[in-house]
Amino acid sequence: MNKLSDRVNRLGYSQTFVMSNRAREMKASGVDVISLTLGEPDFDVPDPIKQAAFDAINENYSHYSPVPGFLELREAISEKLKRDNKLDYKPSQICVSNGAKQAILNVLAALINDGDEVLLPAPYWVSYDEMVKMMGGTSTLLPTSYVTDFKITAEQLENAITDKTKVILFSSPCNPSGGYYTYDELWSLARVIAKYPQVTVISDEIYEFINYETKTTSIAQFPEVYEQTAVINGMSKAFAMTGWRIGYSACPEWLAKACEKIQGQMTSGANTVAQRASITALKADPSEYRYMIDAFKSRRDLVYGLMKEIPGFKVLLPKAAFYFFPDISYYIGKTLNGVEIKDSDDFAMFILEHAHVGCVGGVSFGSPECIRFSYAASEEELKEAMRRIKTLLDQFN
Ligand code: PMP
Ligand code: GLU
Repeated sequence: MNKLSDRVNRLGYSQTFVMSNRAREMKASGVDVISLTLGEPDFDVPDPIKQAAFDAINENYSHYSPVPGFLELREAISEKLKRDNKLDYKPSQICVSNGAKQAILNVLAALINDGDEVLLPAPYWVSYDEMVKMMGGTSTLLPTSYVTDFKITAEQLENAITDKTKVILFSSPCNPSGGYYTYDELWSLARVIAKYPQVTVISDEIYEFINYETKTTSIAQFPEVYEQTAVINGMSKAFAMTGWRIGYSACPEWLAKACEKIQGQMTSGANTVAQRASITALKADPSEYRYMIDAFKSRRDLVYGLMKEIPGFKVLLPKAAFYFFPDISYYIGKTLNGVEIKDSDDFAMFILEHAHVGCVGGVSFGSPECIRFSYAASEEELKEAMRRIKTLLDQFN
């Protein structure tokens, strides 16, 4: 007897966590595994942010906060959105959540009825498709490839919109591709979206700061789609605060109120100590935390040089975030060491078992011809991981 709800039965596990758990188990059993699975900064939380958390504990920030977060934090977010993104959001338009993950889920829960369609440019972050399913919606994938920099065109978007389309959801900078849409590209997408007022864009900007080129643009900057956009961001990536679980949405008032309503029944306000510490983090000059981005950049350059030498990998230089997403279609359909490689999940498993390097297959990102490596790891680990993979794959070439 299956007592579980259809909602759970149709849901998959988060593949990022599945592969990182697999790597962790192998390590625990004594295998020397290098895990490049989970995307999280390997830095400690910076001291001033830690100090703000100690202060918050000592000042007894131990009671429930307002559901959408402390006003002072929402003011700091409002100022940050103005300072970094030229966006005008009042504190009443902001809802602070348990990570950007919950912020996205709130917005989807607020918008999606059974059978509504969500457009997902692929590759997409693993949880998007599963969250849509959880809410009873269906995803329509907009495929891209490394040839087009993993980006959709305005024409592709317009052709995909139907009467049932409620949402388009994407991350820019993108997890997993490491690319981002330029101002002009976003403007061409915005012009299409503005023609369909029933469509809301969820613009996940959590990798905004981890960017090695020019500043990124938020699609909400275009007044034509401001009322149709939910901006998502959070503390996990820019401030190495993944475990502190603070993210946020900035939306039109009606949508912000709906997020608050949902969150008020689900989880209440986010952790108060982490909220207070986030105020300190957001008020700091972003250059204070630039050292992490500089380190990611030199690791990126290191891995790029090494990965280009791996046979059968087609690789782009990522402009942002901390992932490589090489196309490994060369290996699909081959049998390696007696293992048939049907898709990139099989290939990721092959790499884990034979090179002892953990990565995540592209199937759950909507790109079954690619695999994802997080390079938020030490230079020694990255060098050794690339050496192991090259040594393994050289045998088959
Ligand atoms: N969006 C993207 C694109 C991500 O990679 C992540 C990674 N965890 C999240 C949202 C969620 O982040 P968090 O819940 O830690 O804020
Ligand atoms: N966002 C990170 C990743 O893509 C963390 C894991 C997760 O939340 O899925 O690996």
